[in-house]
Amino acid sequence: MEPILSDHHHQPHFILIPWMAQGHFIPMIDIARLLSLHHVMVTVITTPGNTDRISATISRLPVRFTTLSFPSAAAGLPDGCENLDSVPSRDLARNFYNAAKLLRHPLEHHLRTTSPPPSCIIGGVGFPWLHSIAKELDVPRLVFQGFSCFSLLCNHNLNSYKTHETVSSPSETFVLPGLPGDHCIQMTKPQLPRFFDKSSKFQDIYRELQDGENSADGIVVNSFEELEPGYAESLAMATCKKVWTVGPVSLSSEEKLDVAERGNKAYVSEEDCVQWLDSKPTASVIYVSFGSMGRLAAEQVVELGLGLEATKRDFVWVVRGGEKSAEVEEWLAGEFEERNEGRCLLIRGWAPQVMILGHRAVGGFVTHCGWNSTLEGVAAGVPLVTWPLGADQFFNEKLVVDVLGVGVSVGAKASMEGGEMKGSTNGGEIVRREMVVEAVERLMGVGEEGRRRRERAMEFGEKARRALKKGGSSHLNLVLLVDFVLDHDVKRNKKMHGCMKKD
Ligand code: UDP
Repeated sequence: MEPILSDHHHQPHFILIPWMAQGHFIPMIDIARLLSLHHVMVTVITTPGNTDRISATISRLPVRFTTLSFPSAAAGLPDGCENLDSVPSRDLARNFYNAAKLLRHPLEHHLRTTSPPPSCIIGGVGFPWLHSIAKELDVPRLVFQGFSCFSLLCNHNLNSYKTHETVSSPSETFVLPGLPGDHCIQMTKPQLPRFFDKSSKFQDIYRELQDGENSADGIVVNSFEELEPGYAESLAMATCKKVWTVGPVSLSSEEKLDVAERGNKAYVSEEDCVQWLDSKPTASVIYVSFGSMGRLAAEQVVELGLGLEATKRDFVWVVRGGEKSAEVEEWLAGEFEERNEGRCLLIRGWAPQVMILGHRAVGGFVTHCGWNSTLEGVAAGVPLVTWPLGADQFFNEKLVVDVLGVGVSVGAKASMEGGEMKGSTNGGEIVRREMVVEAVERLMGVGEEGRRRRERAMEFGEKARRALKKGGSSHLNLVLLVDFVLDHDVKRNKKMHGCMKKD
């Protein structure tokens, strides 16, 4: 990536405070890298457990890292639990959120005393209280929620129009309100993120997060204009905020090591993984992953495995986190692994996802539709089998399948209940192996429909790469973002020196 020579003499200081969940932390590290190419000073503030995961990457980044110790024990969390992916149960999610609140005072102290003083704070979604600190320091506070413009707009519009409250049964569909163009996209209530569920015990937290979003001075989005035409503009108009799409940030580095070590230490060595993929024909392999938080029930993991096996195709399958139970391990290590030897590369831990998706052998991605994974698939020009589990993921499925035409839905019907298969993604039942086979066949098959989908995916991959290059839309948006912050710095400095003319 080419560095950008700024005309400005003043170097603004960006402070990035990523929310401690992989789907937020990883893209914000990429954003730090992208900003550093614009000759601004960048400091990332996080906790030691999170910097440990990416220590090798940090040594190559021209970015300052400041760590504040995370009060896990004080908040009733296990020692060393500093990232949402290591919270043992959903019941402890509130403890994690409260622990993050305890960072406020050390953070405030740091921001008041750091040199040079901050010019802008880009805060992760879980820090709504950053608002008052930024106000006191008189710096813009931008928010990074980790969602697409499409999801952010859907959330905003549903909050305003409450269309979902007009339906009387879980199976009744409603049209997503206020979308630009002639997009008529239908959803059901059980597919909506949990914060639309008024009976959720996390409603108080959702309200705080919403307030944090409403009070932000702008929104930074990991996306690119060509992927979501009209949605970034509509979001800016609906929220009356500036929106900068600066992605896909997974393309922020072409360095092999940055790609292979992105986000965590991988379970497989780069050499073994590449060697396995090198041995496969082009676009023949399916990559299967449910992100950093996936918690499919054991029964569902087994059914998915049997479905993948029945496709008779080669696949890379990531089984990690909550899915890696003793029951699942026993089943995998039993006949499954033996039966699929040579055909299946099992990754029982962190996968070098962007590296795998970028390999020529990968021809399809079975994804839970976390926004990062979705965008990483698109950026690699790979079509997707969509299997949303909850949060913003059903919105992402709609974008991928109905708007962009680069995905096939597996047929999941509802958000999972707290990660359990109770109230599962298939309306109370598991997603059966036949559904997996059918979706994969539609995606990878030789027919006209599959060919056109693959072509579209390749075109978006090409557009994604162009967006980040000099003169591309995301590159330009980063320049505008830096200018916005510089402008604010200049005004503040004038104000401080009493040079501001009265209106
Ligand atoms: N990821 C990875 N290896 C894994 C699991 C996840 O590199 O084994 C990365 C993935 O590339 C993405 C992030 O972790 O950047 C997950 O974010 P996403 O929004 O897709 O899903 P979430 O984990 O937040 O549900």
